[in-house]
Amino acid sequence: MKVAVIGAGIAGISCASKLQQAGYQVVLFDKARSVGGRMTSKRSTQGYMDFGAQYFTARHPLFQQQVASWQQHGVVSRWLAPLYQYEQARLLASPDAQQRYVGIPAMHSPLKWQARQLDCQLSCRITALKAKENTWQLIAESGEQFGPFDEVVLTLPPAQVNSLLPQTVTQRFPETILQPCWAVTLVLAKGTAHAAGGIFIKDAESPLSWVSRHNSKPGRAQTESWLLHFKPAFSALHLQQDQAFWQQTAEQTLSALLGQPLAVAEMISHRWLYAQIQTQHQDFHYEGVIAAGLWVAGDWTRGGRVENAWLSGIEIAQQIIVKQGASVCPSIG
Ligand SMILES: Cc1cc2nc3c(=O)[nH]c(=O)nc-3n(C[C@H](O)[C@H](O)[C@H](O)COP(=O)(O)OP(=O)(O)OC[C@H]3O[C@@H](n4cnc5c(N)ncnc54)[C@H](O)[C@@H]3O)c2cc1C
Repeated sequence: MKVAVIGAGIAGISCASKLQQAGYQVVLFDKARSVGGRMTSKRSTQGYMDFGAQYFTARHPLFQQQVASWQQHGVVSRWLAPLYQYEQARLLASPDAQQRYVGIPAMHSPLKWQARQLDCQLSCRITALKAKENTWQLIAESGEQFGPFDEVVLTLPPAQVNSLLPQTVTQRFPETILQPCWAVTLVLAKGTAHAAGGIFIKDAESPLSWVSRHNSKPGRAQTESWLLHFKPAFSALHLQQDQAFWQQTAEQTLSALLGQPLAVAEMISHRWLYAQIQTQHQDFHYEGVIAAGLWVAGDWTRGGRVENAWLSGIEIAQQIIVKQGASVCPSIG
């Protein structure tokens, strides 16, 4: 039984791993040069920097088991830095005591570790799917064809899923579920000595949604550097702005937030067109099957966030295993 999983983010990797463990022949495709998707950290002169997912939580018992295994293999650690919140123009210690985890030395580390046993076709953008006698054929941007596959799992943002669905499939997914986010890192020449590891922004006036200090995370370089995530509306309004705009905006905003001038040595930015789920979609649960042998998974099908992306991949793998009549591990519920 051959399965293609398109998208090597955490949903694709959890799905592919589960199916491979159950004896399926699985090929994982991604347009990027390495695995990780929105958990991918950028390599810089100051080591890895997390521009996408900042941390993850583990509330579901199955994901807790997975995180414990990653911890045992040294690719995940607890993030214990002090958290603050910015509210009504004031910076206060946060009462949030939720346990948070990060990949080490980068957010994508657990995914790279897990993908080492998978058949990964990287730098391979899939541009079309063709149904052929109860199977699926994949067509890549290069013109290369892959298949036939008995099952295909799409773990991409909804706009990218829609662009791949053949006309014979009528279902389409709302593309604005995932919103844009500009992420900016400021590397400082001189440290601020501020204790905050992460700052939840609860101030409606601020253009920011989240701030963190990279060097508060385990396994990162010790030079002080700050990551700023801008709110979806602010990011959308300034989607096409250049580096100079983001450097000035980030510097002014962070300086006001920390209440001190900054000595910025370097600025690195990244634009996410599809970042995090709109709040009103957090309770949605999209059904996994789109057409015979064609499935959809990914964070946005299950409420957003790293943990739900992982669960969505496992859930689809279980559905495929059940469909094929094999015995399965406990359902996610
Ligand atoms: C700025 C930002 C901050 C975040 N902060 C947090 C946080 O703090 N905590 C948290 O839990 N979550 C956070 N998230 C959300 C979290 O990163 C995602 O929920 C999770 O990583 C999504 O995983 P996924 O596998 O569903 O999708 P993705 O990681 O998006 O994977 C999809 C993959 O599909 C590939 N792809 C797309 N089109 C094609 C194609 N045509 N052919 C081949 N490959 C293709 C992409 O390259 C990508 O690797 C954040 C996300 C962002 C962007």
